[in-house]
Amino acid sequence: MTETIAGNVFQQDAVDELAAQLTGSVFTPDDPGYAAEVTGFNLLSQHRPLLVVAVADPADVQATVRFAATHGLPVGVLATGHQPFPLAEGFVLITTGRMRSVVIDAAGATARVEAGGVWGDVVDAAQTAGLTPLNGSSAGVGVVGYVLGGGLSPVLGRKYGWAADHVAAIEVVTADGRFRRLTADTEPELFWGMRGGRSNFGVVTAIEIELFPVSDFYGGGLFYPAEQAETVLHAYRDVVHSAPDELTCSVALLNFPPLPQIPEMLRGKSVAHVRVAFLGSAEDAETLIAPLRDIGPALIDAIGPQPYSAFAAVHQDPTDPAPYEEASTLLAELPAAAVDTILAKVGPQSGGAVTVVEVRHLGGALSEKLPGSSAIAARDARFTVWGATVGPPEAISAGAELLNSLIEALNPWTTGRTYQNFTSREDTADSIFTPDDLERLKDIKTLYDPANLFRVNNHNIVPWTARREV
Ligand SMILES: Cc1cc2nc3c(=O)[nH]c(=O)nc-3n(C[C@H](O)[C@H](O)[C@H](O)COP(=O)(O)OP(=O)(O)OC[C@H]3O[C@@H](n4cnc5c(N)ncnc54)[C@H](O)[C@@H]3O)c2cc1C
Repeated sequence: MTETIAGNVFQQDAVDELAAQLTGSVFTPDDPGYAAEVTGFNLLSQHRPLLVVAVADPADVQATVRFAATHGLPVGVLATGHQPFPLAEGFVLITTGRMRSVVIDAAGATARVEAGGVWGDVVDAAQTAGLTPLNGSSAGVGVVGYVLGGGLSPVLGRKYGWAADHVAAIEVVTADGRFRRLTADTEPELFWGMRGGRSNFGVVTAIEIELFPVSDFYGGGLFYPAEQAETVLHAYRDVVHSAPDELTCSVALLNFPPLPQIPEMLRGKSVAHVRVAFLGSAEDAETLIAPLRDIGPALIDAIGPQPYSAFAAVHQDPTDPAPYEEASTLLAELPAAAVDTILAKVGPQSGGAVTVVEVRHLGGALSEKLPGSSAIAARDARFTVWGATVGPPEAISAGAELLNSLIEALNPWTTGRTYQNFTSREDTADSIFTPDDLERLKDIKTLYDPANLFRVNNHNIVPWTARREV
């Protein structure tokens, strides 16, 4: 095979030579395993790379990065595909699904997770030692992408902060093919920038994260009929207004498709779903969520004491891959007028074109910037609003349009930025980071990846062209 990409001749011999160096596998578009390798959680985002390298160890990553640099090809990374980016082609894709080991250091309260590790595996391993990571709502989300994009835990975030601020070490292969182990003491600038810059500076082969002594919580979900959405959203405002950091509460307006795997009571219905997680007693939790209980009986009441391993019951995210488009914003506040805007755009009368819109409460430790904090810039926000429209491409455009118009209508209350983990557009680095942090990130990019090798499947931080000497 001979392909010409942007003037580079790229030959089968070179691919064979690369494959011979690897423990993992190489796939070209004609190989039977290629389609499965480029398919992630979001079925809208099936990239068309020239080559996929399913890496098995850090040496594979080094060989692949050097190969791509030699041939002038950009590099992208894919773990689970939970964060959809616009389709790309003409690049080398590194997939990390074969590197999934998780090792718990109970005495040090840390976990070392390889690049393809997912939260379900880490929680299960950590819980055997009575510890837990700052994981997200879904067991299937990848650890590295989540942590380096911020890491908003729906159970522990308000109490302990962003997962990106609780990283002990990052093992990474940079654009020069070098393997580096980064901590706050070795290469502190790159260590800071990786926690926000993600795949802009290299391919992470493993990450060491802090664990916390939590083995249970009180919470779960309440489902109310869509007709009560207005009452539910305003009661939600009352609850979060004075919530202690131990309480995390979010609310979603959901339009369930009429699919057999949805419980009959919810199938084809529109509902308001309140998610609750409290680190404390049942009695205290019930006092705090009383305004929600006062609404009346819920369609489903699944709130109660939970082992931490049941964390996914709080949001009940879908676990099967599906095509979807998403949009989000960060709000500095959630006044009644913002709730009314959400209801007017995507409330029960809107016809169900948007599958889900959720509001998550931030604040607490998520607002703190401590010495050694990461480049995460959502600390001034008090709420995220995120939505998705699920369905085949031809069916989701109306929902995606409505969702975008909701995000625009929330502009009066936005911080002006978006939360990286909830943002699928590539060209948004300036809406993710503060201007000062973006300057600093560009300096790091210029130092470690001046040719912008890592520019695919990420929120690209473009190196300074006029400041190559940095
Ligand atoms: C159902 C669902 C629930 C979610 N819940 C939460 C939540 O509660 N809190 C939250 O904060 N986020 C949440 N997210 C968002 C999620 O954290 C991001 O989408 C995250 O980027 C997913 O990482 P991934 O590896 O699974 O996905 P991928 O799409 O495979 O990777 C996402 C990006 O991470 C980077 N990346 C992945 N692996 C590496 C690597 N080895 N080296 C360098 N860069 C790498 C790449 O830039 C890649 O584009 C959720 C998403 C979904 C779909």
